[in-house]
Amino acid sequence: MTKRVKTMEAAPVLGLPLPDPEPAPGCKNCQGWARRRETARAAGNWTRVSDFNVLIRRCVH
Ligand SMILES: [Zn+2]
Repeated sequence: MTKRVKTMEAAPVLGLPLPDPEPAPGCKNCQGWARRRETARAAGNWTRVSDFNVLIRRCVH
């Protein structure tokens, strides 16, 4: 009796880092979020960084 062990599982894609979206020049929302994003990044708060990235990406300017 052999137990099958899968050693080649598909790599999880959840942790794939996306490039940071650029804040639109002239958009106060984006500029504010980008500034706070940098503060969060400096603090190592990646959850917040990701939150701001989502906000900037979804911004309609
Ligand atoms: Zn914007």
